[in-house]
Amino acid sequence: MVPSEIRALFAMVARPEIVSLAGGAPYVSALPLDAVGGMIGELVAGKGAEALQYGSAQGDERLREHICEVMALEGVHGSADDVVVTVGAQQALDLITKIFVDPGDVVLAEAPSYVGALGTFASYQADVVHVPMDDGGLDPAALRETLARLKRENRRVKFLYTVPTFQNPAGVTLTTARRAQILEICTEHDVLVVEDNPYGLLRFDGDPVRALRADDDRVIYLGSFSKTIASGLRVGWVLAPHAVRAKLVLAAESAILCPSNFSQLAVREYLATQPWREQIKDFRELYRERRDAMLDALAQQMPDGCTWTRPEGGFFVWLTLPEGLDSKAMSPRAIAERVAYVPGTGFYADGTGQRHMRLSYCFPEPDRIREGVRRLAGVIEQELRM
Ligand code: PMP
Repeated sequence: MVPSEIRALFAMVARPEIVSLAGGAPYVSALPLDAVGGMIGELVAGKGAEALQYGSAQGDERLREHICEVMALEGVHGSADDVVVTVGAQQALDLITKIFVDPGDVVLAEAPSYVGALGTFASYQADVVHVPMDDGGLDPAALRETLARLKRENRRVKFLYTVPTFQNPAGVTLTTARRAQILEICTEHDVLVVEDNPYGLLRFDGDPVRALRADDDRVIYLGSFSKTIASGLRVGWVLAPHAVRAKLVLAAESAILCPSNFSQLAVREYLATQPWREQIKDFRELYRERRDAMLDALAQQMPDGCTWTRPEGGFFVWLTLPEGLDSKAMSPRAIAERVAYVPGTGFYADGTGQRHMRLSYCFPEPDRIREGVRRLAGVIEQELRM
């Protein structure tokens, strides 16, 4: 285990004069905090003996039923019995890796991939093999080639880890046609798919994208309330095939006995009593405005040779610098100019990604985003002159 460069960066960029386009924190202040506070007060006063007690390792049954309603919005029809509540999707990643991966086993992941997942895979000594992606998400032809190569090399592939919708860090979404292809290729090669989907309901236009799990019951689906309710509650979940679910419960029990009953019941009450669908709509509006502010500012300010993705939901834009520039080397100079981003290298297990950076628009207000992009464009222009 090694310290995450990103955590160190976050500590440094907390200074108010710095516009941070680095963090991925959801804007929880947009919640109706008074109403949530009242609801939590009532929960303790009325159901404290339950909320403040231990619970089951699998998680509260009524919450798991609500979770099935939430997943149905993306076409997923699972049974509450196959859901395990976890301490955020992050713990789900940990438990899945713990039960499947022996040191040296291969885990396939998009290039780039979610830094927190890469950290988990490294902690179990998995060998992460990246599969290229483009604006349409993971490339099926590249996946097929990679699997064929690994087979020739007699490598044991445990699963494909993918964030198909509004990916972290790239902001791209797997196309519908590719979804079917990816599932087909993984079935052909008998490779499990782990679909991590914390951003799915934050689509700016149109209905939610159909999840991979909606079309294949063998997909292990990870969900989270971090972006649709509150990240501080630390409530996520896994929907897994029955046999996997049983192992997950055992692994969770030995790790934590049970997830926080208090947090689970807070989420359960929130879903039962508060207008959560409208709140998600409000979050979508808020993030859409910030996405637009960032894309407009990038189009106006960025020097020639820079390219970036155009997310249809979620929190992130992935920017590629002109050839020859290095986002990690440039980062201290950007901080000196009071703007921060996450260098691309953190999102690759093999240390590549120097020309890329992740820009997030979820937390700063639109004016700060525009100012941040203006400062960043200035730094890139200076680099190009060097
Ligand atoms: N997966 C992805 C792709 C994420 O972006 C995040 C949060 N940054 C997580 C998992 C972990 O989320 P949680 O708060 O549910 O643990």
